[in-house]
Amino acid sequence: MRDFETKRLKGTGESPTVALNAKGIEMKEQGINVLSFAAGEPDFDTPEAVKEEAIRAIRDNQTHYTSAAGIAALRRRIAQKLREENGIETDEKSIIVTPGAKLALFQALMAFLEAGDECLVPTPAYPSYRSIICMAGATFVPVPLKIENGFRLTRRMLEERTTEKTKMLIFCNPCNPTGHVLSREEIDDIAAYAEAHEILVISDEIYEKLLYDGRVHYSLGAIPSIAQRVITLNGLSKSAAMTGWRIGYSAADPVLTKAMMKLQTNTVNCTAAFVQQAAIPAFDCHQETEAMRLSYLKRRDLICDGLNAIPGVFCPRAEGAFYAFFRIDFRGMSAEELADYILAEAGILVVPGTAFGEGGEKCIRLSFAADTAQLEEAVRRMGKIFS
Ligand code: PMP
Ligand code: GLU
Repeated sequence: MRDFETKRLKGTGESPTVALNAKGIEMKEQGINVLSFAAGEPDFDTPEAVKEEAIRAIRDNQTHYTSAAGIAALRRRIAQKLREENGIETDEKSIIVTPGAKLALFQALMAFLEAGDECLVPTPAYPSYRSIICMAGATFVPVPLKIENGFRLTRRMLEERTTEKTKMLIFCNPCNPTGHVLSREEIDDIAAYAEAHEILVISDEIYEKLLYDGRVHYSLGAIPSIAQRVITLNGLSKSAAMTGWRIGYSAADPVLTKAMMKLQTNTVNCTAAFVQQAAIPAFDCHQETEAMRLSYLKRRDLICDGLNAIPGVFCPRAEGAFYAFFRIDFRGMSAEELADYILAEAGILVVPGTAFGEGGEKCIRLSFAADTAQLEEAVRRMGKIFS
């Protein structure tokens, strides 16, 4: 057959995290005893109030198209949340509700990047950043961070990778996969940098509710000097355990929002009506979110303490999100070799650090949003194969 695939797509692959998650499900279906920590998703059920509202909305025939940007009551609730919890001055005209934050990410990159543009991404980073930048025809420019430095980002690192073609910067805070939470100083550095170079910034805040050890979340969009050029992405996948519902949103200046609406109206049209309705009470599920956070915190300590006791393993304590991102020095193995070895010898599925780009060499990502007994078993098995 003729090769129909575009060059844009050839430069990328399927999402490694999604593909590895599918592999784990498939192995389990085949009766293979595998412990899968590849997927990054809450192991909790969606709060009852959200489920009840969805059922009520379906019975009430909220089964039609909605206004493309999202139902007004939900957009108002999101804007209120951003003002009250994040200090972002916004209103419903700045919000687009999307089927997952991933689609909001896609729309933001497609709307504002094209061939010739460069987009900076501190790495290790969520793999879809790179893929979508590539789909937009633009150039992905990694800003590699170091595990030894706690994955800290400085203005200087950004400056070093900046050219006259640099148009955008994307970062995730708290970070998937590293677990790093940006300090006030780092956020101020990013703001000063973006202001000086007139750069558009995407701030992916999907893990904002999962912070540990008293850390505080700072939203870049709350800084008035650059607020107009910040696109804030968020969603309910993590905070309300709603991954399968597919609901997220972008918040951006109305001019930017208008451009992204060209993509929304010509693709998905809108997010499922009853899912949007059910999302409204999700913003008030503070108790459930807090219970999940405390549970992840216990599991973080279990996995970090367990892994750090193994010779050759260095596992920094995640400051946020629910991933352990750790380095293993073992027989000079690369990240890919390590992940293969862990699967073959211990029956554990994890993601090689290099799937997240530069800075992930010799590293492994393990999601600790998983059963405690399985995490204990994973530590035991890894202890065996690495000693
Ligand atoms: N950004 C990051 C960093 C993520 O980890 C995820 C979850 N996979 C997303 C965006 C997208 O989340 P969703 O599409 O489920 O809202
Ligand atoms: N948040 C998840 C992860 O990083 C889900 C997979 C994805 O969206 O790529 O594993």
